[in-house]
Order: sequence, then C-alpha cells, then structure tokens
Amino acid sequence: MKVLKFGGTSVGSAQNIQKIIKIISSHKTQNKHYPQQIMVVSAFAKTTNLLIEAADLASSKNNKYLAVLEYIKDIHLTISSQFFDTESQQGITKYINAKLDALAQILNSISHINELSPKSKATILSYGEILSSYIITKALQAHQIDALHKDARELISTDNTYTGASVDFKRTNQQIINYFNTVTAKIVVVPGFIAAAANGDTTVLGRGGSDFTAAIIAAALNVEVLEIWTDVSGMFTANPKLVKQALPIERISYEEAMELSHFGAKVIYPPTIHPVLQKEIPIHIKNTLAPKEKGTLITKKGNGKNLPVKGITHIENVALITLEGSGMVGIPGFSKRLFETLSAEKINVKLITQASSEHSICIGIDESNANKAKEAVDTTFEFEILRKKIRPLLVENHLSIIAIVGDNMKSHQGISGKMFRTLGKNNINIRAIAQGASEKNISAVIATKDVKKALNSLHERFFKDINKRLNVFITGVGNVGEKLIEQIHQQQEYLITTLRINIRVVGLSNSRKMIFDEEGIALNAWKDSLHKGKEASLKKFFETVKTLNLRNSIFVDITANAKVANVYGNYLKNNIAVVACNKIACSADYKSYNRLKKLSLQYNTPFLFETNVGAGLPIIATLNNLIASGDEIVSIQAVLSGSLNFIFNNFTEQTNFYDVVKQAQQEGYTEPDPGIDLSGVDVARKILILARESGMQLDLEDIENQSFLTPKNLKAATVDDFYESLRADAAHFNQLLATANKKNCQLKYVAELSNGKAKVGLREIPKGHPFYNLKGKDNIVMFYTKRYPEQPMIIKGAGAGADVTASGLFADIINVANK
Ligand code: ADP
Ligand code: ASP
Ligand code: MG
Repeated sequence: MKVLKFGGTSVGSAQNIQKIIKIISSHKTQNKHYPQQIMVVSAFAKTTNLLIEAADLASSKNNKYLAVLEYIKDIHLTISSQFFDTESQQGITKYINAKLDALAQILNSISHINELSPKSKATILSYGEILSSYIITKALQAHQIDALHKDARELISTDNTYTGASVDFKRTNQQIINYFNTVTAKIVVVPGFIAAAANGDTTVLGRGGSDFTAAIIAAALNVEVLEIWTDVSGMFTANPKLVKQALPIERISYEEAMELSHFGAKVIYPPTIHPVLQKEIPIHIKNTLAPKEKGTLITKKGNGKNLPVKGITHIENVALITLEGSGMVGIPGFSKRLFETLSAEKINVKLITQASSEHSICIGIDESNANKAKEAVDTTFEFEILRKKIRPLLVENHLSIIAIVGDNMKSHQGISGKMFRTLGKNNINIRAIAQGASEKNISAVIATKDVKKALNSLHERFFKDINKRLNVFITGVGNVGEKLIEQIHQQQEYLITTLRINIRVVGLSNSRKMIFDEEGIALNAWKDSLHKGKEASLKKFFETVKTLNLRNSIFVDITANAKVANVYGNYLKNNIAVVACNKIACSADYKSYNRLKKLSLQYNTPFLFETNVGAGLPIIATLNNLIASGDEIVSIQAVLSGSLNFIFNNFTEQTNFYDVVKQAQQEGYTEPDPGIDLSGVDVARKILILARESGMQLDLEDIENQSFLTPKNLKAATVDDFYESLRADAAHFNQLLATANKKNCQLKYVAELSNGKAKVGLREIPKGHPFYNLKGKDNIVMFYTKRYPEQPMIIKGAGAGADVTASGLFADIINVANK
C-alpha cells in the first residue's frame, strides 16, 4: 500500500490531471490489500490563495470578493469542461455550482458582519480541497478506475484552533485504521489540508498542509512509501525557481529534509516528516510533469555521502526585533519575559541570537507579526523603558533568513567562514547569525533584495561541480572590446568544461548606447542588440549593474575615457570587481590611484589592470608576485611602447618618418592621437604604473621625459597639424636615424626606473643588448631585483594589438573568478 500526495501545481490543469491518472494506473502492485493506493490531493493551483483573498475582501466589506469567487468558479469549470464529456460534466457542474453557492453565502454573511473569525476562515479554505478531491475522484472513475472519495474530516481530528490546527493523533490514527480496514476500492481519494475538530467543525492544517495529511495517513497505516508529487523533480540543493544551477538531491535524511523545509524549502511542509520518521517510512518526492525522473528519497540515513552542505534555503518576509539596553546585563528573566510575551501573542520565533554581553537579544519573526510584537513587548517592558534601562523594541523589516543545511557540517571546519566570506565578497550585509547546537544548519539574516544573489553565490561556493558564473559588464566596444567579446563567445563552452567558469556578458555600452540582459547577451548578435539599445549613460550603467545585484559582477573598462575611470570607486565600493584597460585611473594623481587600491583592499574586490602595461604580457602580475614573495625591485628597464617600437623598427633610410607613423596608426598600433605615443606620455604613464606597483609614490611630473620630438611637433594643436609638423621636420628624424646607424645602434624608446627615479626617452641601443633585436611591436621588460641581480627577469612579446590586449583583459576576468 502506498500514499501519494498530489500538490496544487500537479492538479492545476486538465492536462496535469491526465498525467496523474497515468501515474496512478501505471502503478502495478502485488498487494492484495485494499486500497492499494491512497491519493491525497491539494486544492487546484492558486485556489487556496484566492479563497484567502475572497475572505479578506468580504470581511472588509469589499465587493470585489464576488469577482474572486467568479474566478475560482471559472478555474474549476474550465478544468472539468476540458476533462469530462458533456454528460458527466452536467453532474459535476451542478456539484461545483452548489458548493460555490454555499461558499458565496458564507462570504456574504461575513461581509455583512464585517468580521472574519478563524472558524469561518477554515470553512472557507476547506472548499479548495473539497472541490478538487471530488473532481479528481470523478476523473478517475471516468477512466474506469475503481476509485472512492473519502472526506478527510472523518479521518483527521484536530483541536479547535481552526486554522493551523493541531492533530489529535490518537483519535486520528484510530479513525484511519478503522476506515481503511473496511475499504474494498483500489484507490481512495482524500482531500488534503482539511480536518475536523472534536465537535465536527471544519478545521485546516497550516499552509501547505496537504503533505501533512498524506504523512498522517501513511504513518497510521504504516505503508511502504509516501510519495509527494509536485512540480519539481525532487528536493533541490536550492529552490530551482531562484537558482538555475540547483540540482536535485537523490537521497537525504529526515533531519536534513526537515531543516531544509523549516527554512523555506516548501517542496515539503515541515511537520510532514514527523509522523513518517517514527515509522521510518521513506518519503519519495517526485515530479508529476516528469514522472521518469528519479526525484528525492528521504530516509533515515540519507546517502551518507560526505558532502557537508546538502542544501541552501531561505525564508522571506522576516522582521528582526531587537531588545537592547544596559539594564538587561546580568539580570535574569528578561529573555523569559520577552519570549512569554511573544508566545502569548502566538508569534512564532524563527531565529534567536544573543550576544554574550547579554546587552541585546535579537529575534527573527514573520513580518506580519512585527507590529503586534512591538506593541506587546513595549507594553511588557513599559517600566524599564520609562526608566531608560532598555530601549523600545527595535523593528527592522524587509529581511530574509538564508540557511545552509547538512548533517555533516559539524564534522567539517570552516563552513561558516566560507559562508560569510562568500556573502561578504558579494556585498551582502549580514544582520544576524544563528547556528543551531546540532550544527545541522547555519542561518543568517539578510536584506530580501539580496536573497537571489546570496542563494546563487552560496550555491556556487558549496557545490563544487557547479559552474561559477561571472557576470561581465563591458563599456567600450572599439577594436579591443570587439575582440574581447569575440574571445569570450568562442571560449564560453571551453571554460565551462575545463574551469567550470561560466562567463556571461550581462551589460554592454559604447558612448551612444547600452544594453543589459540578465541571462547574458547573445554574443552572436550583440552589435544589432546594442544598436537598438537605450541611450548610454555612465551613471545609469552603474545603477543598473548595482540594481541587478548579480554575484561575481565585473566591470570592464575598455575606453580611454577619464570619466569612466572616475567611477571605478563606486563599483569597488559595491563589491563589483573592476578590470581596466584604460590607463587613466592608474596613471592619474597618486592620491586617486592609491584610493582605488585601498578600496579594492578594503572591500576585498579585485581591481585589475594588467593590460595597462604591455597589453597581454604578464608584466604587472609578475611584478606583484615578485614583491609579494619578498623580492625587491632594484631597477626596471623596458621598451614599453609597441607603437614606438613598430615605428622605429620600420623607420629606415628607405622610408620616411611621417609615412611610418601613418602606417602605425592605420594598423591600429597607436593611440587615436599618435602624439600621445610619440611624445612619450604613454610610455611615461606605463613606467609610472610599474613604479607605483613597485611601491613608489610617484606622479607623472616626477617622470623625466626627454622628448625626441621637435618643439613644432610638440606644439601641434590637432592630429592633422601634428602630422604636418612631422613631414616638415623630416630632416630632424633622418638625422636621429643617421647618427644611430653610424654607431651601429638601433633607436629604441626606453623607460627606466632606478633609485626611485624614472625616466623615458629615445636611446641608441648597441648590438648585443637585449633590446637591440626587438622586433615589430614587441615590448620587453627587464626586472633587476635582489633575487635577480645580474641576469634580469625578462618578459618579452607583442605589447600592442587588439587581440593580445583582449586576451590580457580576458586573463584578468578569469583571475577575478579565482580570487
Ligand atoms: P505543491 O503545490 O506540489 O505542494 P509547492 O509549491 O508547495 O508545491 O512546493 C513546490 C515548490 O517548492 C517548487 O515549485 C519550488 O519552487 C519550491 N522549492 C523551494 N525550495 C525548494 C527546494 N530546495 N527544492 C525543491 N523545490 C523547492
Ligand atoms: N491548499 C493548501 C495550501 O495551498 C494545502 C496544500 O496545498 O498543501 O496551503
Ligand atoms: Mg506544498
């Protein structure tokens, strides 16, 4: 014999009822005892909520309850019209109409007396299950299934609390056993949720209580299994509606399932587990919409696998009430009085924390009880409040409790550390923390707006075979930006399979337009989408990134714009990592560079700018590693301008300087204004950044810049003027080249840092020097350090170009994932 419970979502439509019939009929049993299956059914989807709404409207004399009632009728008539042939439909329609007429009368009288008693409320709520169980029995019978209907009010006895009634197990068990001993039908359909008090009044169990009805019957009859059929394939590692990566849990222990459901996994109603646990009846959670899937088996042992965290859950609509004051310290009885007050008001306590100083007690309760709690507690402590021994009760709303659950957490150290670090890294403020002594659960109170981010980031942290999602926001989609998007697009699959990193580009902006897509912008058509985007705004871009509030968010700046650089601080302060290709922030005044470095440290949020020096070459990372490992920089010598290197490599006696610079620009090796490269400013910025990263407090003015340009070149106001001046001063450049050639030297634009001083300038490099053979747009950096005193550490390779710069940015993005 087994008990199957079908939830509201499983009985929400004619198609789903068809599925249930298939499930029921496919169950072959050797069992000769009758009934072979007991079906407990919920109200049709949405009905219970609508009934509550109608009751509330009627009791406040709002006639809209009639429209709600019509809607309820419509749901039931639609389902039966789709399910039954015209003939049987007549009888069913009659039944539905009769029941809803009776309900209308009750609501009507409630609206007259303007009051809703718990007793009437329970009666009103019972209609959902009364109707659904009747219609489903008829549906089974219409399929020639030997099914019988049994009203749960004749089986389940409760006290007279009416809503959320307590079960009288002794009487209930006897009634169940007595009844089922006599049944000869194969299937008995029982409405869930509803019950009766000793005097026969209708009562209801708590919300979601059909699961409980099923468990009570299962335990009373000691059946082989209790199956809970719902709209998801089992109990998941987190609510699958909020965490896309959540996985079904194959096996779980009663205790774990209980903790998960207590903390919000409503896939099973928490009290359900008690009755079946005592008899060790397994609970199997299954998906009506996908019956072949395994689902979750809840048993005494679970699966014993050593995963410390089994699931992550949350409860919304939590208020935190805090009682505090010096008058509480060391005086017994305060908490007793506080809890007694809450209990007298029937306010359920969800979480408690008390500092060991006893200065304050902090309690999580349902938000709907917050006002009641405030009034009652302030009255209880009126005397102490008047004498300023304690403060009036502090109430904070819009909170949620998030909890991680697992039997094995107690034998693993550092779980709570991981939990809070993960929340902290994602800028989620924790208002209170509680850990049960059983260590099966660690809970934290956070703002409701952060719940989705918290669930997802914790889920990524605790379930190893889950992909870590990076949410990337790119501004600036010129040559480099375009390449970066192309590379991300191309590597997406590879990164998922090898590094378990799932990169999504969620926001894109150029100077005109911006677009966002929380699920990730389709990278094969981003140009079109961006073209149709909203008007770009730096401020709105930031605000959207902040409001989307996604975990592992990364802002990538691929512009050369000072205004963009100015907003990095805002991102860092919101724990949004910054990856910058833009050199401005790091080469601006020392104070603002230092501020960003400090913010990155303070908020534990990466600020990476590897591509500021040498494009994709790992120059800054190497420098950071040398210093972190205790080495000291003695001097740096470097050729850091791919553009200048390209220019001086191609400038020969057969070419002229003007043409070579033009070519460099056309091939994308210079800044849009080549004057910035040729004046040495760009190289000066780079050596400045290396100096700063070596620990020196330098500013751009401190860098000695010996320009090789003529005063005319330097004075040029526009790019065109600049080119003209290059043409006019050809003789000057030819002279520079001739002098070098005569000495068998190559011209290289070199940056140097030693003794705390930095300089940049054109140098004649003799044969044999590591710089001599530098080709094309290559860069080279030589680090002389305490550990590399004679033979420097050398990094060399292409130091300009969209492709390599994009790959440098890509590496920084991956590094954020690993931090
Ligand atoms: P039913 O109507 O079948 O009783 P419920 O809506 O009461 O269904 O419960 C199923 C829902 O529980 C799922 O649709 C899912 O959104 C939610 N849920 C919350 N947490 C979890 C979890 N950890 N695993 C599975 N489902 C969960
Ligand atoms: N219909 C009731 C509710 O919605 C009971 C249940 O579905 O379990 O709360
Ligand atoms: Mg439910």
